[in-house]
Amino acid sequence: MPTVSRITVHHEGNAFSGSDEYSAIARRLANIREGHIRRRPEPFADIGYHFIIDPSGRIWEGRPIRYQGAHVEAQNEQNLGIMLIGNFDVQRPTQAQLISLESFLVDRMRFYRVPVSRVYTHRELKSTACPGRNLQSWMIAARSPAGTFARA
Ligand SMILES: [Zn+2]
Repeated sequence: MPTVSRITVHHEGNAFSGSDEYSAIARRLANIREGHIRRRPEPFADIGYHFIIDPSGRIWEGRPIRYQGAHVEAQNEQNLGIMLIGNFDVQRPTQAQLISLESFLVDRMRFYRVPVSRVYTHRELKSTACPGRNLQSWMIAARSPAGTFARA
């Protein structure tokens, strides 16, 4: 991927419960990657997201940023994909996840000079429930004029 000109936020879509130990999250991400690689009829080359934020707020590298992601159908060009583990239609992101998302996203906006108008959620680009209503409402507030992203 030559550069990043937009950022899209996702949720996993599976409710999170249980262990957030490093090994448990590593297994969960390996399963997501397997699902993406075995996808039919169009398998992905690798996990579709560039970064994943787990319930403890740890940030995992998914697909290396030098490669285009596979996270918004037909809109992956120059699009950095960040996924938060959980289903935010039925649960809320953890405070640790939101703190990580906030600082990481601001950092990436500054690094790539992405304006707040180019920070999306999946459902704003495609018809989908992703990233769930609880993360969607948080993203709307964060991008509002008083929000963290607007001031990035
Ligand atoms: Zn999504």
